[in-house]
Amino acid sequence: MIIFKTAAALNSYIQKAKEQGQSVGFVPTMGALHQGHLSLIRQSKINTALTVCSIFVNPTQFNNPEDFKHYPINREKDIELLIGQDCDVLFLPGLQEVYPVNHQKTQYDLGQIEVLLEGEHRPGHFQGVCEVVDRLLSIVSPDQLFMGQKDFQQCMVIERLLSFSGRSGKVQLNIGPTLREADGLAMSSRNTRLNVDQRRAAVIISESLFKIKDLFGTTSIEELEASAMAALINAGFAVDYVSISNPKTLMPVHDHEQPAIALIAASLGSIRLIDNMLLD
Ligand code: AMP
Repeated sequence: MIIFKTAAALNSYIQKAKEQGQSVGFVPTMGALHQGHLSLIRQSKINTALTVCSIFVNPTQFNNPEDFKHYPINREKDIELLIGQDCDVLFLPGLQEVYPVNHQKTQYDLGQIEVLLEGEHRPGHFQGVCEVVDRLLSIVSPDQLFMGQKDFQQCMVIERLLSFSGRSGKVQLNIGPTLREADGLAMSSRNTRLNVDQRRAAVIISESLFKIKDLFGTTSIEELEASAMAALINAGFAVDYVSISNPKTLMPVHDHEQPAIALIAASLGSIRLIDNMLLD
């Protein structure tokens, strides 16, 4: 695996690979890698000739400075894990490489999804996500982009970014399934911050989603949401939302129209976790 720390060196390496006809797959991450990330690397390896992973903890997408400060970092282990997957290229830029002095801030028009769910509870978050992904896409110019359903709303935002930045036909977004721990908890870099009691309690998020999925169609939407909310609060969570939504618009659904998606965001202390499950 080749590690690049500058945008210029990576960009020229990739341009040469593309001139030789190689297709490029890209997996952007914030590091503290787990099997969920690695599943995306594997998908990229299967589907493209050259797999590029980036690790960059993007300050502009953190609406909460404490979350940014405590975001887990484990570079040596990350590098070992990527070598284990035979990842071809790792981009490990510093702040100046991603946001050079001449970097122009853009206001991205994300429409309704920017003010719903994650957008409502993390103001500015998706602008920061678009800013970093837009810049990384310019540096890497991949043919295929690999992201996880775990961040369902983020995938919708990126789909939109691809379309209004004129990359729709050029970059294909592939959405990988959410990988889970044995008890069902969605893998997340933030899980490493949970203490033993919090880790035990955290399983209630996925349990609530599985329960909603089981009862969807036989119990009212309001009851499903209220019962998941009560279970989360009972387990010690501060809940941002439990929402059964339309997966195309993220607007709440009120009857058992298909398809639908259940989404949860909730915090244990300062650790905020999200998960979702398609209900069709
Ligand atoms: P992050 O490092 O959290 O920014 O995540 C980088 C990519 O990995 C994003 O596309 C995430 O959606 C994806 N990802 C995170 N957790 C999981 C998971 N449990 N299963 C599959 N993909 C994941």
